[in-house]
Amino acid sequence: MREILFRGKSILTDEWLYGVIVHHADDYFMVDSTSNIGYLEPDLLFSETIGQYTGLTDKNGTRIFEGDIVRYRGEEHVVVFETRGETGYFGIKIDHIETWGFCLSVPAKLMEVIGNIHDNPELAEGATMTEELKPCPFCGGKATIIYRDDDGNLHGDDYEDDPWRGLGYQIRHSHEENEDCPIARYAEDGAIMGSVYIYDTREEAIEAWNRRASDEQIH
Ligand SMILES: [Zn+2]
Repeated sequence: MREILFRGKSILTDEWLYGVIVHHADDYFMVDSTSNIGYLEPDLLFSETIGQYTGLTDKNGTRIFEGDIVRYRGEEHVVVFETRGETGYFGIKIDHIETWGFCLSVPAKLMEVIGNIHDNPELAEGATMTEELKPCPFCGGKATIIYRDDDGNLHGDDYEDDPWRGLGYQIRHSHEENEDCPIARYAEDGAIMGSVYIYDTREEAIEAWNRRASDEQIH
């Protein structure tokens, strides 16, 4: 049968463990099937680090897991499991819209695992995470990211590098600059008025906006 294998990081040791996942209440445990200590002692995992083996290996014979970052044709991509309508597949993220499934024309054998999104977040940023904001699906206008602190004050771009009082991300698509747009919001002193969602990360903000942009184009 196909090798069923998961990995996840131990909360106790912060090390990667490989084996079978047991899910109980809110906790995820790893039963290490590769250990030969003679008994099974489940380890508590950081649930966000859990990923499944894709069944494929890279050019060096390294197993490719969900959450890995691979280099393919000179670019870095994150390995994900994607579901779209009636299809589901492992593949590499190209941008916020597209994921290429592993196949003859996107062969794992031409890829190289260079890290993963948990140990190497800096690689993930260079991969598919720092996509720019797409144009507004309604008016084609531009959206930008603005930075807020915990008190709701607006900050310039440089605040992101040294946030001394909390950091949140909002999407600014203002009525003033996009007059006919039904989803544009009024701005005051550069900030967006009313209840506009504040995201914890730049990636979340971009992804939410771009998902909206692509959803609207499909409909
Ligand atoms: Zn618009």
